[in-house]
Amino acid sequence: MIKKLLAITLIIGLFSCDDSPIKPSENTLKLIEKSKQLQDRAEVLEKNIKERDGYLSKKDASSDRFSNIQDDEFVNIEELSNNFMLDMRYATNNNFLKESVYDCAKCFVRGKVAKAILQAQKELMRKGYRIQFFDCYRPHSVQKKMWKIVSDPGYVANPKGGSVHNRGAAIDITLTDLKGNPLDMGTDFDHFGKEAAHAYAKLSDEVKENRKLLRTTMEKYGFTTIRTEWWHYNFQGGKKYEIADFTWDCQ
Ligand SMILES: [Zn+2]
Repeated sequence: MIKKLLAITLIIGLFSCDDSPIKPSENTLKLIEKSKQLQDRAEVLEKNIKERDGYLSKKDASSDRFSNIQDDEFVNIEELSNNFMLDMRYATNNNFLKESVYDCAKCFVRGKVAKAILQAQKELMRKGYRIQFFDCYRPHSVQKKMWKIVSDPGYVANPKGGSVHNRGAAIDITLTDLKGNPLDMGTDFDHFGKEAAHAYAKLSDEVKENRKLLRTTMEKYGFTTIRTEWWHYNFQGGKKYEIADFTWDCQ
């Protein structure tokens, strides 16, 4: 009984006294808060690493299929890897033509180009990014259709000479994070203004870094840029391919 009373007195004493030794000091509270924040951050990092490893372990094309790809055959890029992101703007109304010119959203390129893109994608994914396509091979008949809608060489290549897209060796791309959120590149795809040029200087450091990452990686795997469009990449020697009018199956 005495023990009980003593215990009760002690407890009352502890909670009634403002400067009780068990009340944590402000510094202790700060440390507790800080350690909670660190723990939360560690959990987020662990989750991100697990997600990245999940993406990296997704299966790319079988090595048999990969080694049998001919340099000039048309290859569906999604056949090589399910890690690519597609935002095929010309299969929607969300483009400068304000109308869709493709029956469905697919990305085809020549075999040699596809292999180079896959190598670039693998390197980018190790760094935490994915390639997102806006446009790839563009059938010659579609080029004619686009020219009919906007007959201005400032916006559309004249179908007479065709473009590298018509040869299956040009791609319009950007980068996303591993979850598919696009990186800030300063302008949207098909922004016809000086801000889209590689040399345009009035961009944030982040945008400059994002563009640089895309450019240096693509150049490493055999792609070249054009001065006015940060999203456009030609594969080296791409003009040697014939202008084509192969159209893909939408079934
Ligand atoms: Zn292009």
